[in-house]
Amino acid sequence: MEEGPRQLQAPWPYSSGKFKNGLVGLSNGGLTCCVNVLLQSFYLTPEFTSILQRWDQMENDVNARNIPYHMCRLFDQMQTSKSGRVSAEMFLHCLQLNHVKVYTQNDAAELFLIVFNLLLDQLQTSAIVEEMKRLYEIKVEQLVQCSCGEVTVKDSRFWSLPVPVIGTQCGKDLTLEDGLTQFFSPQSVRSNSRCPNHDCKMKRSVQKSIKLISVPEVLNLHLTRFCALSSFTRKIYRSVTFPQTLDLNSFPVSERSQTCGSGQESWHYQLYAVLVHIGSALFGHYIAYVKSFKDSMWYKLDDTSVSQVDWMDVTSTFGGHGFMWSETAYVLLYRRMKTDDTKPSSGTQTVGL
Ligand SMILES: [Zn+2]
Repeated sequence: MEEGPRQLQAPWPYSSGKFKNGLVGLSNGGLTCCVNVLLQSFYLTPEFTSILQRWDQMENDVNARNIPYHMCRLFDQMQTSKSGRVSAEMFLHCLQLNHVKVYTQNDAAELFLIVFNLLLDQLQTSAIVEEMKRLYEIKVEQLVQCSCGEVTVKDSRFWSLPVPVIGTQCGKDLTLEDGLTQFFSPQSVRSNSRCPNHDCKMKRSVQKSIKLISVPEVLNLHLTRFCALSSFTRKIYRSVTFPQTLDLNSFPVSERSQTCGSGQESWHYQLYAVLVHIGSALFGHYIAYVKSFKDSMWYKLDDTSVSQVDWMDVTSTFGGHGFMWSETAYVLLYRRMKTDDTKPSSGTQTVGL
């Protein structure tokens, strides 16, 4: 296996592939379509790759086990590919050395968290790790109210928000916004932890609700289409429509959020990638729809095959067709719009990330 230090380059130009916009297929090494769509979603997020490229690779990072090193190597190859397809074999081997099963049915939302956490662990340079975290970090406060009235507040963070797709009116078409509303709405839960109020004699039934503190550049949402029942996992095929632009300000925002009041930054998002699952909970295939940041056109990435499509094709992944082999959107990636994009154009364009 040839290995050696990478030549550091200026930001990748994304001019490879048939469409000259960086879109290059990845060959399937046998059930590796899930890893492929995940890699494509990282590769086609220039906010992510520009951080990755500034990583200071040390001599001892050049080894078969190092995730950031092999990710950079693969992305280098994708940038220079003449054939329009690349094999991710070395990266797959690297994942295996990190005890990640790759030649198996994977879950794209789970795999994102596994790979992202490994990446954070192995990047080591603290400034780069912090930038990487900020790119995806959704900070929330969780309010827990006991039936005695005592309220406790706990902060937590998500790299990816799980959007419920059950529990709302059955039969009705669900929208992404409905799912998010449900995620943020107060839920009654039983709690085993003690109430901080010492006089509280209540049997603990608490109300939990979530409010946003801060939102990231890249918003990763996953529709919870796979639910684990006692002995097996079931897939929910119901239709969930999702918009091309999403406003997070319409969901509960914490008073501690920096964006409350005047001078607020944009909480408007634009959809740019959809990771799609085809099949059942037991057996399936992943493909991705990505809107190129270079030409703003939608493309379908299905392992080695890359083709141009339109928004109508992307909407065919809403689901609800009642046909197991239809395409159902699973992970949605939204990019935060620059404040300028959400206002009428002033005639000048802000350049850069
Ligand atoms: Zn209490």
